[in-house]
Amino acid sequence: MNKDLRQPIIAGNWKMNMLASQVEAYAQELLLLTQGHESWCKTVVCAPYPLLPAAIDAFKGSGVGTGAQNLSMHASGAYTGEVSAAQLIDIGAEYVIIGHSERRAYYGETDEIVNKKSLAALESPLRPIICVGETLQQRELGVTFDLVSMQVKTALHEVAADALGRVIIAYEPVWAIGTGVTATPEDAQEVCHAIREVISGLYGQEAAGATPILYGGSMNDKNARELLMMPDVDGGLIGGASLKPESFAVIVNAASQR
Ligand code: PEP
Repeated sequence: MNKDLRQPIIAGNWKMNMLASQVEAYAQELLLLTQGHESWCKTVVCAPYPLLPAAIDAFKGSGVGTGAQNLSMHASGAYTGEVSAAQLIDIGAEYVIIGHSERRAYYGETDEIVNKKSLAALESPLRPIICVGETLQQRELGVTFDLVSMQVKTALHEVAADALGRVIIAYEPVWAIGTGVTATPEDAQEVCHAIREVISGLYGQEAAGATPILYGGSMNDKNARELLMMPDVDGGLIGGASLKPESFAVIVNAASQR
């Protein structure tokens, strides 16, 4: 499928930053700075749980989607501190980041857990943003494609073809996250293309052509345009640069102009 038929998605990951009292001003500024671009680029903000109601409220009716940064693999029950897909849907969230490398590294999330969380999200109306990517050591060992392919295949295990339409994949090389080091547009393209091939092998070319594949890892207002022009890069997952509406808006506007 022609890239131009895939709507670009720019998703901000606030991580454990911001306060509820700051959300309204952030939203107003972002909406002002992206006016006119929102109809083509899908903008999403993934907020910490306690900030989600404020974000959902602030972006209501604007076309900007809101999401969480994690969810439980379980539907309900005795899982202290966890949040379920149904609870996210109940407050109006639409997206959820799954398998971010910080969760994999600090909270022991394995590919199997990422798969269970993806299935839990897809049993609800949520759109999962499933993160995959290699460490620097793995890149230097030359196993990037094998590893990312395995991560994608495991994450999508038992995901039905009709649910794939809600899946968003984010290729996030671990060495590029929060480091200021960005993958070159060619490196990002190469891996995003390989991911599309994996999806094509699992679900067919048409389904792969319709799946949004984002790049994440120190994307900012300076480098976004070049990365977003790559044929298999359908948008970005943005950490640091999503915290300031000015820089996040430049990325959203760049994605809209491709
Ligand atoms: C991320 O956390 O998903 C991310 C890409 O972070 P940063 O943009 O800060 O590298």
